[in-house]
Amino acid sequence: MADFTEIADRVWTARYAWVDLTVTAVGGERGLVVIDTHGSTAAGRAVVEDVRRIGAGEVTAVVNTHWHWDHSFGNAAFREQWPHLPIHAQENAALWLRDHAAEVQNDLDDGMDPERAEEIRASTIVIPDRLFGTTAVIDLGDRAVELIHPGRGHTDGDLVARVPDANVLVAGDLIEESAHPWIGDDSWPLEWASTLEALLPLIAPGTVVVPGHGALVDRAFVEGQRGEMAAIEREIRRLAAAGISEQDAVAEGDWPWEATNPGLANAVSRGYAQLT
Ligand SMILES: [Zn+2]
Repeated sequence: MADFTEIADRVWTARYAWVDLTVTAVGGERGLVVIDTHGSTAAGRAVVEDVRRIGAGEVTAVVNTHWHWDHSFGNAAFREQWPHLPIHAQENAALWLRDHAAEVQNDLDDGMDPERAEEIRASTIVIPDRLFGTTAVIDLGDRAVELIHPGRGHTDGDLVARVPDANVLVAGDLIEESAHPWIGDDSWPLEWASTLEALLPLIAPGTVVVPGHGALVDRAFVEGQRGEMAAIEREIRRLAAAGISEQDAVAEGDWPWEATNPGLANAVSRGYAQLT
């Protein structure tokens, strides 16, 4: 359980302890849009309860910022409550969820809390059914939620959700606050910085940016994280050009993060695969 807090006119966020996920709800004349559904059907049911306690009407759309389990495995809980609810995502996110959800459920990290692991395995996977390539709009009557795929980064199907009249941008895991952004084996470390660069015109000095994990941030924070991703990209390109082997690259590199961050090994592996 978590409490939703109104962070701007009819925009609420709740920060869930499990993986420190942030869920956003946007209210309008035609109901509520909920952005990300947490990591299991059971966790999604708790989000549904929390959304009901806002008291701002029925949910009329769900959005997954990307395919990762902690953002999308709660989808089924919303369909239990609202059977015909549209679920929006970028088209690549839907493909990844369709093709890789079972793999995620069968191959959970041994370090995970066994109860949570069981919840994840027991989750019914619901694939988003309202898909777009570059941009889409959810019309709430008196306001709109814009969905934008700014390019490849954390995955090849990240979206950001923008509420222009409230000056809020929900960034998914393109931006993380409570940890460094996760670079996985489905990430695009050579393109992530330019993807963030493409977002900057949408972020004014007063814009509230909601990261996938952690506390609310602002434009300066996004610029800082863009700088880190650019430094990682530059270092991968430099190491590859210097003929440093993939095995040695993490140790040889000069990184903006501690070299033990497992995302860096993924970044090197993904970057080298693209460059060679
Ligand atoms: Zn993610």
